[in-house]
Amino acid sequence: MEKLYIGVDVGGMSIKAALVNKQGEIIYKSTKKTNSLEGGPGVLLKDIKELMIEHIEYAKKSGDVVKGIGFGIPGVVNNENGTIDYACNLGVENVNLRDYLSELNLPIYLSNDANVACLGEERFGAAKEYDNVVLLTLGTGIGGGVVIDDKLFEGVEGKGAELGHTVIVVDGEPCACGRRGCFEAYASASALLRYTRQEMKRNHDSMMWDYCKGDIDNVDGLTSFECAKKGDVSANLVIDTYVKYLSEGVLNFCNIFRPQVILLGGGISNQDKYLIEKVKKYCADRNYGYKNTPVVEIRVASLKNDAGVIGAACLAMDGDKK
Ligand SMILES: [Zn+2]
Repeated sequence: MEKLYIGVDVGGMSIKAALVNKQGEIIYKSTKKTNSLEGGPGVLLKDIKELMIEHIEYAKKSGDVVKGIGFGIPGVVNNENGTIDYACNLGVENVNLRDYLSELNLPIYLSNDANVACLGEERFGAAKEYDNVVLLTLGTGIGGGVVIDDKLFEGVEGKGAELGHTVIVVDGEPCACGRRGCFEAYASASALLRYTRQEMKRNHDSMMWDYCKGDIDNVDGLTSFECAKKGDVSANLVIDTYVKYLSEGVLNFCNIFRPQVILLGGGISNQDKYLIEKVKKYCADRNYGYKNTPVVEIRVASLKNDAGVIGAACLAMDGDKK
């Protein structure tokens, strides 16, 4: 009989669930389409409960036992009372997930999706040999996660570690959170697309126009990287701008947390020579402190699409230790 933990990655497109063992291995997984934007929060809760029962039954049949369920939620949660406070991608506000699942008689843990991804990477992914880790997921916005001394740092009610909403340019670009100049307004994948379009409008001879077949609406996260590799001057300028803002944020988090490693996740983070190496150099040149101050490693997150379910299962593993 093995102890298993259910990790659930609740996303705007799909709800992914997995049975995970203490070694971080996925024993079983399944997915449901997210229907809450059309169907309302009741549909989301019902779908989640059905998925949980399916996983619990699977474990039973194999002679194993489920010890807890962890959730990674794309929004604001209250981990003390088990509520999803607000998740615009799910169309959910003020829903108590823990109460709804109480008849399963299992401990229920909730956290923000970037927090659980960071925990998963620290335990079983790109930072498994370390205990002090910061994760930045570069997408439409920037999700932040912080693990200190092998423990997830979440702040009161799990509402901290919003690294994307730290201001790096006072009175800068507007951000979805209502402030201006947030890190995510300058270093998310969306910001990279903005720099790409701005530079294309400035230089109509750039190779990036050919790459986009003459239509600026075709700009994506690869446009600047692919053209920079071919030597396009404008594309290299775009990347230099992006690297500058991303690295300045990374340096802030080096100085606040001095982790052993900062992980970068999201589709655009897979550019080794044209992103990771440049950020490393920018940061090494500006590392705070005397020459013996350790340089923070910068790596690409490795669990990819499984980071959410594995990390969420880690919440339940940690709860089981208490
Ligand atoms: Zn913001």
